[in-house]
Amino acid sequence: MRKKRVGIFGGTFNPVHLGHVRAAAAVQKRFSLDRVLFIPSHIPPHKEMEEIVSPRDRMRMVELALRGRRHLVPCPIEIRARGTSYSILTLNKVKKIYPHARIFFILGVDAFLDIETWKEWERVLEQCLFIVMTRPGYRLGEAKGVLKRSFQDEMLEVPRSVRIHERLFSTFRIFLVPIDALDISATDIRKRARCGESLKGWVPPSVEKYIREHTFYEKRRSKNKDAHGH
Ligand code: ATP
Repeated sequence: MRKKRVGIFGGTFNPVHLGHVRAAAAVQKRFSLDRVLFIPSHIPPHKEMEEIVSPRDRMRMVELALRGRRHLVPCPIEIRARGTSYSILTLNKVKKIYPHARIFFILGVDAFLDIETWKEWERVLEQCLFIVMTRPGYRLGEAKGVLKRSFQDEMLEVPRSVRIHERLFSTFRIFLVPIDALDISATDIRKRARCGESLKGWVPPSVEKYIREHTFYEKRRSKNKDAHGH
């Protein structure tokens, strides 16, 4: 029997946007993943805290964005754990929840370029498979340069014509996957919200409504009560 396939898609999701949803849906389909867990970080280790909305609200927006999508699943494990979110801890937790599954760590090429700054990054690489996706402004090939030789040998670029077969997983660990990525970032969305511009086509309508109702990103001050310990 084929092992269950579970994707971990972590991020600040401040806010979640259609670029995230499109990318996760594309790799879910391409790799026949049984589910992709969207895991908002509690306190992201790499991001400045200005303009970040509370973990609870980022989680809520992920739930709204994924409503009706069977394979894309909101997952609160980092938010529940509180404190700083580290991929190695998250990976271990997901492995405990799905002890028999093949776990895929999903991320954009921009995020992969920073991998050597992650806590215990080599262990993360060794303990699961990686799906590195296109992101506008970056070339997928850039991912090849960041790792030492032993990991480079385990990388495989999978053009759209290549069928993802189970046997690839025993030879390769890091898959570079071209997708039709949308040129959207949460930074752009926060700017648009601050200027009062429409978010149509950037976030799902339910998320835009939530942002408006809570007046997120409208002023230059932090809304992250949890992260500041208030
Ligand atoms: P910010 O602009 O605040 O830095 P972001 O839009 O990059 O945010 P994150 O929550 O930091 O969003 O990203 C989470 C993950 O989603 C990362 O792996 C990132 O590479 C990926 N990602 C974000 N936007 C896109 C996109 N438009 N296409 C493909 N992947 C994306």
